[in-house]
Amino acid sequence: MAIEERKRRLTKAARAAGLDALLITHPADIRYMCGFTGSSGALVVAGRRSLLFTDGRYTEQAHAEVWGAKVEIVNGPLLAAVCAWIEAGGAQRCGYDPAHTTVAALGLMRAAVSPGRRRALFQTAGEMVGRQREVKDAAEIATMREAAGMGCALFDEMLQVLTSARSEVEVAVEMEGRARRSGADRMSFETIVAGGPRSALPHAQPTAARLPRRGFVTLDFGVVRHGYCSDMTRSVHMGRVSPEERSVYDFVLEAQTEAIACVAAGVRAGEIDEAARRVLRRAGLDTFFTHSTGHGLGLEIHEQPRIGAKQVQEMKPGMVITIEPGVYLEGRFGVRIEDMVLVTDRGSEVLTTSTKALIEL
Ligand code: ZN
Ligand code: ZN
Repeated sequence: MAIEERKRRLTKAARAAGLDALLITHPADIRYMCGFTGSSGALVVAGRRSLLFTDGRYTEQAHAEVWGAKVEIVNGPLLAAVCAWIEAGGAQRCGYDPAHTTVAALGLMRAAVSPGRRRALFQTAGEMVGRQREVKDAAEIATMREAAGMGCALFDEMLQVLTSARSEVEVAVEMEGRARRSGADRMSFETIVAGGPRSALPHAQPTAARLPRRGFVTLDFGVVRHGYCSDMTRSVHMGRVSPEERSVYDFVLEAQTEAIACVAAGVRAGEIDEAARRVLRRAGLDTFFTHSTGHGLGLEIHEQPRIGAKQVQEMKPGMVITIEPGVYLEGRFGVRIEDMVLVTDRGSEVLTTSTKALIEL
């Protein structure tokens, strides 16, 4: 059982850090460690004991979803009850994740335990679960493969229905409706549909503007399948491309291809970023590539590792990352191409297999 293995590894890491308990409050971490998908909960892992605390709204759901942890339903303030339980259980040093703990929450945690224990009991533990989530296990990879496949099928369908009679919002809504009907839990993030000069905005929100008669349309979207995100981008062209548009597209594609070719276990994130940037630098386009090359994804759309300049983190088999260079010419047009890539023992495998040939619609 995957969750038993995850718990075993987490407990080992906690012990190595001198912690005898861990308080996990980030929803994606909770889901990863015990299966619970509710929005209110806290998981405590203390040696062999795991307890999921939640409130009465989730009684039935928690009992149905949770694996490898006892469910405790709390009346009243959740965090106070959890911390009182941690102290009563005799834990000396309980780790928490500072990246997902607000100052207010830390105040509540400390106030919930006896004054003599306030300083020593709660210790920052880094993103212990987050680090573990970087490398996906076989079941996660299978689910992400499925999510990626659903994204590709959606893109292929959209090629049949994209016309300049439709607005960006209409296209986004159409994509989201089709995704839900095909079995997606939801979209991974707000779908980006950016036509004409708006394709030069890396994070454009869809507007009421119609797709251009002539010009690029960038679609950046993802579906969530059984909790796991897909993410892909294609820039397609309405009407005939100009030589300049084709040239920019070809350089972005070359940058993306080079970066993917660089992905392998043991390679540093910064080397992958540099592989993409080098191509665009040679083309004189690197100043128009204004973001990093990619990011890890999984239960969340943005996870570790970050694939950016000078990042030293090494790739490990089982990581799933995006490779998404882009060139944005302000007020004119932009191109981005993004795939999900699985790091393997031998190199990498692209999970989003939709065509990257320049499409003129
Ligand atoms: Zn994306
Ligand atoms: Zn992305």
